[in-house]
Amino acid sequence: SDLYRVDGWGAPYFTVNSSGDISVRPHGTDTLPHQEIDLLKVVKKASDPINSGGLGLQLPLVVRFPDVLKNRLESLQSVFDYAVQSEGYEAHYQGVYPVKCNQDRFVVEDIVKFGSGFRFGLEAGSKPELLLAMSSLCKGSPEGLLVCNGFKDAEYVSLALVARKLQLNTVIVLEQEEELDLVIEISRKMAVRPVIGLRAKLRTKHSGHFGSTSGEKGKFGLTTTQILRVVRKLKESGMLDCLQLLHFHIGSQIPTTALLGDGVGEAAQVYCELVRLGAGMKFIDIGGGLGIDYDGTKSPDSDVSVGYGLQEYASTVVEAVRFVCDRKNVKHPVICSESGRAIVSHHSVLIFEAVSSTTNTCSQELSTIDLQSFVEKLNDDARADYRNLSAAAIRGEYDTCMLYSDQLKQRCVEQFKGGNLDIEQLAAVDGICDSVSKAIGASDPVRTYHVNLSIFTSIPDFWAIDQLFPIVPIHKLDEQPGARGILSDLTCDSDGKIDKFIGGEPSLPLHELGSNGGPYYLGMFLGGAYEEALGGLHNLFGGPSVLRVSQSNSPHSFAMTCAIPGPSCADVLRAMQHEPELMFETLKHRAEEFVHNDEQEKDEELAFASLASSLNQSFHNMPYLATQSSC
Ligand code: PLP
Repeated sequence: SDLYRVDGWGAPYFTVNSSGDISVRPHGTDTLPHQEIDLLKVVKKASDPINSGGLGLQLPLVVRFPDVLKNRLESLQSVFDYAVQSEGYEAHYQGVYPVKCNQDRFVVEDIVKFGSGFRFGLEAGSKPELLLAMSSLCKGSPEGLLVCNGFKDAEYVSLALVARKLQLNTVIVLEQEEELDLVIEISRKMAVRPVIGLRAKLRTKHSGHFGSTSGEKGKFGLTTTQILRVVRKLKESGMLDCLQLLHFHIGSQIPTTALLGDGVGEAAQVYCELVRLGAGMKFIDIGGGLGIDYDGTKSPDSDVSVGYGLQEYASTVVEAVRFVCDRKNVKHPVICSESGRAIVSHHSVLIFEAVSSTTNTCSQELSTIDLQSFVEKLNDDARADYRNLSAAAIRGEYDTCMLYSDQLKQRCVEQFKGGNLDIEQLAAVDGICDSVSKAIGASDPVRTYHVNLSIFTSIPDFWAIDQLFPIVPIHKLDEQPGARGILSDLTCDSDGKIDKFIGGEPSLPLHELGSNGGPYYLGMFLGGAYEEALGGLHNLFGGPSVLRVSQSNSPHSFAMTCAIPGPSCADVLRAMQHEPELMFETLKHRAEEFVHNDEQEKDEELAFASLASSLNQSFHNMPYLATQSSC
């Protein structure tokens, strides 16, 4: 497990068991040994054909663990409860989940259910997100907040006010100054008293990748001048008591508690000033940013890690708010956070299969090359290079070999382009140069593993912002990997490859794909936040199949509580406005026409039926490769 740092990034939810498989500990540190779930067994059960007792789900597959989600929520609540108690803080913490991190119905419903005992709420940033948050919160805690962020038009504001009428604990957070006029006007028309928050543009700036949200020039929030104008307008409208929440967000993956404390302290000062100006302040909403340790280093210097744990995060926040409020003699506000990444990242694992591997040099074996005739066909310059290369290889001179090898190849390509070298010669020169590279130890040992996956659909942040996630074989971890590889996906796009791994490694230790060793499964971990909604349809590969797995009551077993096959070819075609039913009819007519015109065809009806059925099947199957286990 050391090789893949599983104990670093995986704790307390993932570990390597005695069979060499990844085990999931659904309750984190509270998991008993017999409650561990062997991920390989889950994948087998999910992907085995229905007639062999499996679910027949095709890979790639997202396996969700609601127990992990529950544990994350409870852990977040308990670190804040502890900080509140140990700091002598005189108000409580209540979180909201920003649904944009993962809007999956079951994820949102689970969060509302698991968080209902401690007033957990939801945050929405658009009208559809607001609709889903409203309907989900009907089953949540009545005190759970419904925080309405994002750009707002009259329709958004009206909907948020409808939510308030429905007795959902709704706060409309002003992101733009102009939104205030809409809120005042529409709330009067609808005769509903709004609860208003405002998002402050803090001066504290997070310098990491996600920091563009923060600082004076950040994309969102109100400047100090705008805040003062909002207060004045609310006062003039007799609505200053409606202003109850101060929100800020300094960016995702906040690297250190020093930066966090700085930002929270600044916001607490703004909060106290709003109290002084007469607003009805009750809540300080510190936004998201609680980081994830993707590479297991716990280092703020790593792009994909942070230098603190959950408890340090909560204690820093509570301490910073208490300190400022006590100095200003202001009643402690309820602390709210909008952690997304930290809640949902761990609960889902993306499983995919490596279907083949190739060495990056798949050229002709030297023993099969007729060297004499090869040399005869070379022009004088190329022949000289060949001789120099052979001599340097005999002497074992690395640099000279590399020089003549490059030169020889280049000259041969030129000769080929000029029509003076045949294709067999061109293949032979690759074989010769590769065998010299091998002999002097310069050949590239890294292989390309082809994986049944679309990076654009399932790991879009790797492509877009170089975000690294831990990727690990989910089995064979008791065997030493015999190779190193990069991963290449199914899309026809040169960006569709993963050639950077946690720790900055340019390749991943991987096992040989044996001819009869069965499927080789890899897992991408900690990707439960953002990846699903951001994923696109490049090459029309749709989303993965999804499976929900809970710990069951019987020891060493698990329950599969929901299985949803991924979108079919018809589904993804529909997403681009094609009409699969019409397409099928068009192709069926063509099949009919050609079968009738085909004189070779003895049984036209049977031939037509078989063509139609295979076309129909193609529309209904997922776009991915039908792999060993699922076909
Ligand atoms: N709240 C707001 C306003 C955000 O913009 C974001 C994400 O960028 C979040 C919460 C969630 O942040 P994180 O996933 O880092 O917790």
